[in-house]
Amino acid sequence: MDTTGVKDGPQSQFWLMCRRCCIMAGSVDVAFFFIFHYLGSPILAWVNVVSVAMYAIAYHALKRRRNRLALALIWLEVLAHTVLGTVLIGWGSGFHYYLLMFIPALFAGNRSVRTAGVSVLCLWLFYAALSITTHFDPIQPISDGALTGVHLFNLAVLFLMTSYLSVYYMNMVKRAHQGLRCMATTDPLTQLFNRRHMMEMAAHDISIHDQHSRLLAFLLMDVDHFKQLNDRFGHNLGDRVLCKISEIIQSALREDDYVGRWGGEEFLAVLPDSDSHQAAMIAERVRAAVAEHDWGQLGLNTAVTLSIGVSHYLPGESFTESVARADTALYVSKASGRNRVEAADSIRNAPVDAVSSSV
Ligand code: GH3
Ligand code: MG
Ligand code: MG
Repeated sequence: MDTTGVKDGPQSQFWLMCRRCCIMAGSVDVAFFFIFHYLGSPILAWVNVVSVAMYAIAYHALKRRRNRLALALIWLEVLAHTVLGTVLIGWGSGFHYYLLMFIPALFAGNRSVRTAGVSVLCLWLFYAALSITTHFDPIQPISDGALTGVHLFNLAVLFLMTSYLSVYYMNMVKRAHQGLRCMATTDPLTQLFNRRHMMEMAAHDISIHDQHSRLLAFLLMDVDHFKQLNDRFGHNLGDRVLCKISEIIQSALREDDYVGRWGGEEFLAVLPDSDSHQAAMIAERVRAAVAEHDWGQLGLNTAVTLSIGVSHYLPGESFTESVARADTALYVSKASGRNRVEAADSIRNAPVDAVSSSV
């Protein structure tokens, strides 16, 4: 089952919640059977047996996706139970409270707000009509103490069920929010951060490092001859190679470093608080880890390598400019034979057309 609440939309979540409500309401009705027997109200006691049966059928109907039948049974049960309870032992029994639970359910279960609004209006009319029974004497009255007990019991059930539904909906909204956030920030293939999120995070880091005059390094990494690899071994294997490379890069970086998928077969890592020596060392560690990995495990009979360009953030420049210098270094790394690390600091006359190729 999807736990994000995104794949399973609000409608399917609603039916799942209905199933749980059937279990809860059925359990409450089992309790009522004994309570009303004890209070000497046999009609209401046996009404609860019918109610439990209706909830059991509704539950199984929901399991078989016969949602309309289930909904009809639930409505019928609550309406009939409320009317019988109110007419037999009085408005003071508090059975009418259960009608209130339909208000959020009507909005959650209806795709159209208009239809839900009309249904709520009908519910209000029903509620108002039922409240008129306060003017008549109940048919099968119970003692004042018992009536107060039933009232408090119904009130407690209403509070518990409403709290449960609130928590359920809040969790559903939270999960949906987390799922959407994950989709907005994560690359679906490699599960690394996507380009947009990397830009946001790096911009944030740059502002912090500007304030405190701290160092920030960038590694721009590109898989060598990846097109050939795709052509030889197929796109699916190419995808698996990208996932493996993502794992290797992540494990070669330090805890505070972070990496994202910058483009097709390009990755960008941001290394906070790293001087030239540290950044070059980490870049070399990543390069070696990829080159030395046993690619035969994926069915490749050739090594996979990365070329890496390293740059440092220079105070006053933009993130795009920093990455463009890493890209220049990457270009030099490619031109010098690939499977290499090249630092932007050490480049004198970089080819101009390389600067904007990936930014
Ligand atoms: P170079 O060493 O100069 O970087 O050569 P290259 O072949 O790696 O570079 P090129 O830009 O010519 O080709 C990149 C290839 O990466 C082409 C594209 O089909 C492939 N690619 C991009 N995204 C994906 C992806 O998500 N999955 C797979 N399997 N291939 C991808
Ligand atoms: Mg590329
Ligand atoms: Mg490439």
